[in-house]
Amino acid sequence: MSDTLVKAISRGIRIYAAVTTDLVNEAISRHDCSPTAAAALGRTMTGALLLAANLKNQEAITVSFQGNGPLGYITADATPEGYVRGYVGNPHAELPLKENGKLDVGGAVGKGLLQVTRFTGIGEPMRGSCEIVTGEIAEDLTSYLFTSEQTASSVGLGVLVGTDRRAMAAGGFMLQLMPDADEEIISKLEASLKEVRSISSIIADGAGPKDIVSELMAGFKVDFLTSTELSFRCKCNRERIEDVLLSLSHDDMQSLVEDGKAEVCCQFCGEKYHFEKDELVHLMKLADGVR
Ligand SMILES: [Zn+2]
Repeated sequence: MSDTLVKAISRGIRIYAAVTTDLVNEAISRHDCSPTAAAALGRTMTGALLLAANLKNQEAITVSFQGNGPLGYITADATPEGYVRGYVGNPHAELPLKENGKLDVGGAVGKGLLQVTRFTGIGEPMRGSCEIVTGEIAEDLTSYLFTSEQTASSVGLGVLVGTDRRAMAAGGFMLQLMPDADEEIISKLEASLKEVRSISSIIADGAGPKDIVSELMAGFKVDFLTSTELSFRCKCNRERIEDVLLSLSHDDMQSLVEDGKAEVCCQFCGEKYHFEKDELVHLMKLADGVR
């Protein structure tokens, strides 16, 4: 089954669940991620897709973990249409496993700032931030939603990485309390969440996003709303890369021309763009013409 996000509601609760195994694997191969980098980036991209599901069409969100750990900054852009792209500063960084045998994502992310930027297409983007709490990504997003957006939420994220460095299961959920959630609903939900298995083991057992909702919300009456296909997609293209080259100084451009060719790599998706000497000369002339 392809990667999908479903939205559902129950009385007083909004529920989003996503399976992202394929797109996390695409990110792993594009960036050649270590297992810990794969888990951190996969969780961040899945979290960004869950946050983006609350946006209007044509809006977009950037989730950026600016931690002091060995992975460096981790950034993911997502849209409510189901597209996501992301990268990690040091994709080869790795730490020893924790005592419980799990990947040390929190240690690899470190302490610092989590910043979330919402692009509405109108006016300045809206920025919110909070301190990174554990660096395990899901707890940090839960804390961000509470402190910056005053929304009581529970975010769960998981990426199960196999010995072949591929994601065997990846996905997540976001539960948000709506104003009409009463005490009875809240305590029933808290009890239900305590019982629930880790999200990656639910997905590893073959669950789709609707099955995740059913498992999380066992005992609740749930109505399913929309379902959106998810994929890794970057906005880069040759024209955008040419714009970057056009913004270089004459001297920098001159040295690329002297090299005889240039390779420009998109930070977000790892796509490589090659430019031959005659194209570089053409771009240098264009840039010089408007200087
Ligand atoms: Zn790209």
